[in-house]
Amino acid sequence: MKFNPLAPPLHPLCGSALGTMTKLASSPDLSGLRMNALRRAEKFALQNSSSELLPRERVCKCLKMRITSEKGVGIRYNENRGTAHYDNLQRCGSIWICPVCAAQISEGRRQELKAGIAKWTGQGGAVYLLTLTNPHHYGDNLDQLLGGQKKALKYLWSDRKPKEMFASLGKVGHIIASEVTSGKNGWHPHYHILLFFKGHINEKALQSFIALQWQNCCKKAGLKVPSIEHGCDIQDGTYADKYVSKWGLEDEMTKGHTKKGREGSATPWDLLRQYEDGCERSGRLFQQYALAFKGKVQLRWSKGLKDLLLVEDVTDEQLATETEKDSIEIKVLNREMFRLVIKYKLRASVLRAAELEMTDGYSRINDLIMDAAIRETKENMPRLMKDAELIDVQYRTLALAAS
Ligand SMILES: [Zn+2]
Repeated sequence: MKFNPLAPPLHPLCGSALGTMTKLASSPDLSGLRMNALRRAEKFALQNSSSELLPRERVCKCLKMRITSEKGVGIRYNENRGTAHYDNLQRCGSIWICPVCAAQISEGRRQELKAGIAKWTGQGGAVYLLTLTNPHHYGDNLDQLLGGQKKALKYLWSDRKPKEMFASLGKVGHIIASEVTSGKNGWHPHYHILLFFKGHINEKALQSFIALQWQNCCKKAGLKVPSIEHGCDIQDGTYADKYVSKWGLEDEMTKGHTKKGREGSATPWDLLRQYEDGCERSGRLFQQYALAFKGKVQLRWSKGLKDLLLVEDVTDEQLATETEKDSIEIKVLNREMFRLVIKYKLRASVLRAAELEMTDGYSRINDLIMDAAIRETKENMPRLMKDAELIDVQYRTLALAAS
């Protein structure tokens, strides 16, 4: 049977789908749910910043515009997980610039990677983690760096020497992950590559060989040439496992991000956080990054590897639009209510209110929306008063004219 990342996860002990377990329904992990709610609130906030910086991109409509205008915005609740989500809202499916979609897509991709590695190592194969980079300096153009690295990598797969070496070692395929950070030396795009071999190899010997080849490839591609020590690194399966278990989670793993990001290297989500904290320069860097990565593939499997590892092909869009089927509708927000939710940035608060409502029965969603309506009326009050005064003056003028 092929591995399908959209299928519900299985219980580690009994193997049944987690969504069908009633025991979990009665005891959702409350601290875990609180953490999830916090992460979700952060993702919505970062998505707002991304939309502000990229007003022409689809991220601006993501989970803000309805799919069909004939229906309101549903709030659905999954009793087993204790979580709420929206229904009838568009998704942008962008892995690079939408923190909400990226988290969902990454989760699906991580499951694919994990299943692929487990399948391969389970039948005696070995997986190694190769990291490739090249020198970069402040002021280097990100587009040019990406273009150069793409060329250099193409040489690495197709040049005679490395090709023969990989074949002799029993390489059956690879998965390339493209990543970028920004630091005091400018943009740092790099590749993490999972190498699949028929059996164990001497990774240090391969590292020495690849380091030389990578130097040649970078030179041919017009890139600054890396040193033997810094351009290439190969780690064994333990590191490959560790990398995969962390992959795509950088939005959740860089707590204390602002400090870390400013001193060391910042991920794109760190740049958004810094922009949120008032750093205009980080906002401009995020715009550069978004432009350079638009349309690029984040994870590339070599030809035939998915079939070999029995992993189903699922698109980013499919992963992003996959909502939890096992849920019930608990409320529908009409157009006006949802307008207030968006205007006052209440998307995360409303979902949290729905989850708490389902736990203790105390009504919160209506209160939140009512507060927003009162706030809007108060904000509009000066204008309304002015209008009323104007009407009063006009009325008096008319009355005088008539007398
Ligand atoms: Zn999105």
